[in-house]
Amino acid sequence: MSADIKLIQDSNELALLLTGVEASGVSACKCSLQRCEGWDSMSDSMWPKEQLLPLATLRDSSIDEPSFEEFQPTGLRSDDPNALISIEHFPYNRCDVFSCTHCNQGVMRYTEYGGYYIDHRARRVRSNQVIKEIGKT
Ligand SMILES: [Zn+2]
Repeated sequence: MSADIKLIQDSNELALLLTGVEASGVSACKCSLQRCEGWDSMSDSMWPKEQLLPLATLRDSSIDEPSFEEFQPTGLRSDDPNALISIEHFPYNRCDVFSCTHCNQGVMRYTEYGGYYIDHRARRVRSNQVIKEIGKT
């Protein structure tokens, strides 16, 4: 990820960004993102890098260790395809945001570091899943 990629710190901004992606018309695509309903493992070899456009990041590099706290007001599991997105909470607070140039779907990815492994996780996201900040427009 290049250093000049936009840092998003406002959920409304993220929703707007995803709305813009979706406005071009989501279409069927055979890319490997189709299986990323809810934080599926996605190795670098599976990741369709060539057709993904980096849009933004939610990972604030001034924070050493973003929170591992999760926030899910719906009672859904965090890996449910319909889980909501809170940008200050795990895992969204360490995600990069992309769009597929073939199917116009937004996708987020973060990396999980275990003791002996690195695991990339990806999830397709939609603007209506972003939890809006109350009091802001
Ligand atoms: Zn695609």
